Amino acid sequence: MVKAIVGANWGDEGKGKITDLFAEQSDVVIRFQGGANAGHTIICDYGKFALHQLPSGVFYPHTTNIVGNGVALNVPAFMKELKQLEDGGVPMPHIIISERTQLLMPYHVLQDTYEEERLAGKAFGSTKSGIAPFYSDKYAKYGIQVCDLFHESLLMDRLKSVCAIKNVLFEHLYHKPLLDPKALFDELMGYRAQISPFVGDALSFVRKAMKDGKQALLEGQLGTMKDPDFGIYPFTTSSHTLAGFGAIGGGVAPTDLKSIVAVTKSYSSAVGAGDFVSELFGDEAEELRNRGGDAGEYGATTGRPRRVGWFDAVATRYGCMVQGATEVALTAIDVLSYLDEIKVCTGYEIGGKVVRDFPVTPLLDQAKPVYTTLPGWKCDIRGETDYAKLPQAAKDYVDFIEKEIGVPITIVSTGPKRHEITYRH
Ligand code: GDP
Repeated sequence: MVKAIVGANWGDEGKGKITDLFAEQSDVVIRFQGGANAGHTIICDYGKFALHQLPSGVFYPHTTNIVGNGVALNVPAFMKELKQLEDGGVPMPHIIISERTQLLMPYHVLQDTYEEERLAGKAFGSTKSGIAPFYSDKYAKYGIQVCDLFHESLLMDRLKSVCAIKNVLFEHLYHKPLLDPKALFDELMGYRAQISPFVGDALSFVRKAMKDGKQALLEGQLGTMKDPDFGIYPFTTSSHTLAGFGAIGGGVAPTDLKSIVAVTKSYSSAVGAGDFVSELFGDEAEELRNRGGDAGEYGATTGRPRRVGWFDAVATRYGCMVQGATEVALTAIDVLSYLDEIKVCTGYEIGGKVVRDFPVTPLLDQAKPVYTTLPGWKCDIRGETDYAKLPQAAKDYVDFIEKEIGVPITIVSTGPKRHEITYRH
């Protein structure tokens, strides 16, 4: 059986904590998309870790952690993450990197950086980690699969043909130094030495695990709004952030995917550019940002301050629908305890009409939030483990959101730590 943990919004919903929770009961944890451009924050018995590419099962000796074929594998960043675990006293986890996973190349990072420079003010807010050029190359069939590292003459030929294309761009569009296929080849041989112990046939491993009745977890990065098809394109990422893509990027059979947990925060946050209808500004935003998350709303990978706002029921209803959510985990309800009143965005006003369906990007630009105001609870609920003991106003807030989004909220998280969790229903 496969369960997916995915984001209903713009990412940073607290998926890391929820995945960590479910990872305990899973035999296999699979990363199926994205790369080192975003991260989960996990606070466990070993301490606090920001995981970017490593699956969240790495803290449990009984799980096999799979870097799926849909991932953009940044080898130096991957090795750095492993080292951080080792330094933190975490025993060496069991990891399989799919032989079909593609490598994020040094020139992807360069290209991303040069392109952001070229676009200057019109940039899309890339983290400059090479993700967009990586996926462009993958679909243009210029990518390098991990298995290519073990076929040297084929690899050299591919590098020569990639460099011929890239060097036209680097010379004439970006006016930057040219790439040398031989230097890249040598670098890749270094990658091979580092990742060899982990490379394997992830697809067969996962399919066999399913046959043997094991539990697998698909771990999503970012959220619905960052999906290139259903998100706020072009202010999206370049890989699919949807549970359905787990069947491709994680190599699981679509029919094995039985449970989809969409994670959403009790307020909204987003990084990067693009319209964010319920965004707050000024002092109100500053206060929520500083109280949010475990140490303020700042990017786990980039340290960038996150944009924050009220809970957006329009975006979340859509986000859950697109994910095919079977249940919802609502995180960080403790953060709202300081507020006298809490607003929820229940509609968008577009051209004088109130709509409840999330619009396409050009219309999003015109949308004004329509709010319903609910009373706050004004007492500290951080760390509560019994849902029944939450103040009535907090439970009413959860009921209201559940009714708005139309998917059962089964988990309400009351703090960043593993045990700070309540179960509902
Ligand atoms: P992810 O990418 O979805 O895993 O989200 P991140 O880990 O980047 O961001 C979520 C932030 O919220 C992190 O700082 C978490 O430690 C924190 N967090 C998760 N759940 C809760 C919660 O219930 N309460 C509070 N206060 N913080 C939480």
